[in-house]
Amino acid sequence: MSAPFGAGDRALFFDRKGRRYLVTLSDEGQFHTHAGYVPHADVIGQSEGVTVTATGGARYLVVRPTLSEFVLKMPRGAQVIYPKDLGPILMLADVFPGARVLEAGVGSGALSMTLLRAGADVVGYELRADFAARAAENVGAFVGADALARYKVEERDVYEGIDEVDLDRVVLDLPEPWRVVKHAESALHPGGILVSYLPTITQSAQLRETLAASAFGMAETIEVLHRSWHIEGQSVRPDHRMVGHTGFLTAARLLGPTP
Ligand code: SAH
Repeated sequence: MSAPFGAGDRALFFDRKGRRYLVTLSDEGQFHTHAGYVPHADVIGQSEGVTVTATGGARYLVVRPTLSEFVLKMPRGAQVIYPKDLGPILMLADVFPGARVLEAGVGSGALSMTLLRAGADVVGYELRADFAARAAENVGAFVGADALARYKVEERDVYEGIDEVDLDRVVLDLPEPWRVVKHAESALHPGGILVSYLPTITQSAQLRETLAASAFGMAETIEVLHRSWHIEGQSVRPDHRMVGHTGFLTAARLLGPTP
């Protein structure tokens, strides 16, 4: 059961044409559109699925945003990892409730939210104070206070080392992950997993080269192709547009001494 909407909650307004608007509810707030406005008070106290009417007569259905919707619409400083890659990262990194994860850099916090949602305990290293603050804000807005208790962001450079030990996972979204491999070797326990998201294949090849000369094994690199379909009556075909490229995902496991 979804709790009724409260002030401070995110709400997604859908109009008749399927357009979506992400709104942060406040007691005095108003959701303005070309068709007048809806007082937030009409939504606060109601449950998901409520229909509200703007002053101009347009009707909106209101639900809570999903993680994907929130990631695509939340305020961003750094570029976020898209939902099509966030899901597979959870599988490649085999994230489980209670997993101890080091994440760097944190950026806008899209990956942080995904890891926290899956139950991980996350320590984030982020170079830029403004990004670290934005991430904490975004994460708090979406995952709520209990998950925030599992999240700590430090303003620091992961290329200089990792203080944590006995980590389960290291997840990276930064330009030179090969500079983290040595640190991850001592921060992870054997069997631990490193996952890295990189925009280019040359960076991925450089990471693989460093991994091949390290205590990591079972390395794999993939890209995720996501093609949506247009389905309407007899017109059933792939959509004309797709996101052709985001990034490559590389995963490897820290092995113990060779048997
Ligand atoms: N995965 C994030 C986006 C990360 S963008 C998301 O989904 O929202 C990359 C981030 O890495 C930037 O914020 C940048 O400041 C940070 N960064 C780059 N090099 C770093 C380093 N050596 N140590 C820590 N953070 C770093």
